[in-house]
Amino acid sequence: MISYQIVEHGKPLQKAVMDTPKPQGTEVLVRITRSGVCHSDLHIWDGYFDLGGGKRFYVKERGCIPPFTLGHEPFGVVEAAGRKAKGVKVGQKRLVFPWIGCGKCAVCKAGQDNYCVSGSRFLGVNRPGAYATHVLVPDPKYLVDTSGIDDSFASTLACSAVTVYSAINKLPPLGPRDRVAVLGCGGLGLIAISILRAKGVKDIVGCDIDDAKLTAALKQGAKSTVNTRAPDAAQKLQGIAAAIDLVGAPATAALGIAALRKGGRYVICGLFGGELVHPLPPIAQRAIGIVGSYVGNLQELKEVVALAKKGKIKPPPVETRPASQANAALEDLKAGRVVGRVVLDFETVQ
Ligand SMILES: [Zn+2]
Ligand SMILES: [Zn+2]
Repeated sequence: MISYQIVEHGKPLQKAVMDTPKPQGTEVLVRITRSGVCHSDLHIWDGYFDLGGGKRFYVKERGCIPPFTLGHEPFGVVEAAGRKAKGVKVGQKRLVFPWIGCGKCAVCKAGQDNYCVSGSRFLGVNRPGAYATHVLVPDPKYLVDTSGIDDSFASTLACSAVTVYSAINKLPPLGPRDRVAVLGCGGLGLIAISILRAKGVKDIVGCDIDDAKLTAALKQGAKSTVNTRAPDAAQKLQGIAAAIDLVGAPATAALGIAALRKGGRYVICGLFGGELVHPLPPIAQRAIGIVGSYVGNLQELKEVVALAKKGKIKPPPVETRPASQANAALEDLKAGRVVGRVVLDFETVQ
């Protein structure tokens, strides 16, 4: 098998050729055909998350030690299965749920693998990921049938769509006139607009610092947009019922929280970095919620896939590139040059 690996954090990925693993027990070997490139890949590539105040969280502390293969939006074809892998056939095209927990703790048993408390096995985060021709999946239950959905778009459902779907699930009940701000209109923001629309939210405000992304937000179904660098941005957002922050920087947090109406909710998914300092009494007095959301669970992914199959999620622009361009794709994402999503094509890799 071939993979594109982090050999040293922050340096170009290196192509590596190694033995293809043989699935044992309940394991399934998936030959990757599509592999989405996600913004959080950039942090793993860099090797740390910025905690603000000069503090960092290093990914090596959670088991991501080079040489390491990124990629947590795996899509491909079942190539082999262990003897105990039930309900799966060689040749099936499947999306892989990457947020795999230990499978044994109470949280995993309750279907919340993404919140596993005793040893997560997240593909492309602390287990070898999908910037590779092959990925080993611990159990067929993590494979999802996406028949009818375009392969490249399907791959992006594994992180970008399920992440925003889970964040939207954390919003309070919304009335028909409630405004919801989407902070950051990159790949996740555009899919958030689609999913909010699918859930019946009409007054969506797309927010970004890049006018090209705001144009994409309008095309995706946002009712209005706000360039958050404009001096009156805070005023324009005042009174929103909810904000979904897909950037996660001090500026977006400050803006989103300040603009909430009483009882409103700010949900943070973005991992840009920094810290939040906020006076305590107004959190109670305004009865606002500040909630974190991290990826999603298997049931949520299945719900997202069902919505996409019904054509209820408008795909954002998706650019499919040869896998050999993995480094260029990461560089473009880092520089803010990507509108929508980039997906790597591993079918033609040699
Ligand atoms: Zn991701
Ligand atoms: Zn667990």
